[in-house]
Amino acid sequence: MGYQGSRGGGRSGGGRSGGFRRGGRGRFQRKRYCSFCVDKKTIDYKDYEGLRRYITEFGRIKPRRQTGACAKHQRQLAIAVKRARHLALLPFVVD
Ligand SMILES: [Zn+2]
Repeated sequence: MGYQGSRGGGRSGGGRSGGFRRGGRGRFQRKRYCSFCVDKKTIDYKDYEGLRRYITEFGRIKPRRQTGACAKHQRQLAIAVKRARHLALLPFVVD
């Protein structure tokens, strides 16, 4: 047993000035569920017009924060887009 740990050294944090960087103020609507969950939509790869809303002009799948989809649906979305690409309904990524 030894260890005389002197506990509780005063470590006063002191002034950490500077605002929080994470103060999202308005602007970002916080949706609780993704639009697919809300509408109970299924993502159909044949519905390329619908899918087009979820890809960028370069043919890339938009990130989740832009699509607002939950993890499950974002994944389905990605699969649907890939299928649609194979069917040439959607463009491949343009580099
Ligand atoms: Zn969802």
